[in-house]
Amino acid sequence: MTEVIEPREVPLGGPRAMTVRRTLPQKQRSLVGAWCFVDHYGPDDVADTGGMVVPPHPHTGLQTVSWLFEGEVEHRDSTGAHALVRPGEVNLMTAGHGIAHSEVSTPSTTRLHGVQLWVALPDAHRETAPGFEHHVPDVVSLDGADVRAFVGAYAGSTSPVRTFSPLLGAEIALHGDAPVRLGLDPAFEHALLVDGGDVEIDGTLLAHGQLGCLDPGRTGTTVRGSADVRLVLLGGTPFGEEIVMWWNFVGRSHDDVAEQRAAWQARSARFGEVPGYVGDPSWLPAPELPNVRLRPRGNP
Ligand code: MN
Repeated sequence: MTEVIEPREVPLGGPRAMTVRRTLPQKQRSLVGAWCFVDHYGPDDVADTGGMVVPPHPHTGLQTVSWLFEGEVEHRDSTGAHALVRPGEVNLMTAGHGIAHSEVSTPSTTRLHGVQLWVALPDAHRETAPGFEHHVPDVVSLDGADVRAFVGAYAGSTSPVRTFSPLLGAEIALHGDAPVRLGLDPAFEHALLVDGGDVEIDGTLLAHGQLGCLDPGRTGTTVRGSADVRLVLLGGTPFGEEIVMWWNFVGRSHDDVAEQRAAWQARSARFGEVPGYVGDPSWLPAPELPNVRLRPRGNP
């Protein structure tokens, strides 16, 4: 184990804010491969939290990957995509030059539980056109676990969703308390997000919500937990570029982000409109930029 990252609790915003556990970015680490943002939430009783209500807001320079364990979220975006995010089904949204979207848990949802992940686009692709993809990965049974590869390829299953750098995202549901050997691509750095209970990863004990990071050069890792445990395995080649990430934007400089913020506040056509969203407020204004210039960050 290279590093264990503790989650910090962050309110998602809105009048009855739902709280998420954020493990990336953190002071000590900005990226795992191109994965630049890891939010983990639930299991939450929607009657207590009010569920997820995120009005139209923008993104640039990234892809969002939504993966649920329980519940259902209605997605709308300015490409015209309208989709339900359900357990075991990945929704990948490419923001590229600019997109706006809303995310609202459906009325039938009683429990919400899942992850919201972001992928930084390499500089050569960050102005790409926005898009939306949906995919239901096969369930592959390993010795001791069920695996769903929602991004990239794992255990013989390949997700067709488009990525712009070598990348892996997979759910690993343990069958029981027997050790499970997980093969790894030595060209990738990896992280394992723990959901549902304690897990030993190569002998290091991790708890619900923690993220364990593994350096490149490894061909595998051994995990041991219980039948309640799910792991989210993230991987990718080290990103090698510094990024400026602020609010919902990923740029390369303070000025990139300031320009994107100004465009959103001006309701620029860069982000389009989200058809069919009904709610108040009808869009989320950006916070004020900090008084200091935002600095690029990469991994040490
Ligand atoms: Mn979003």
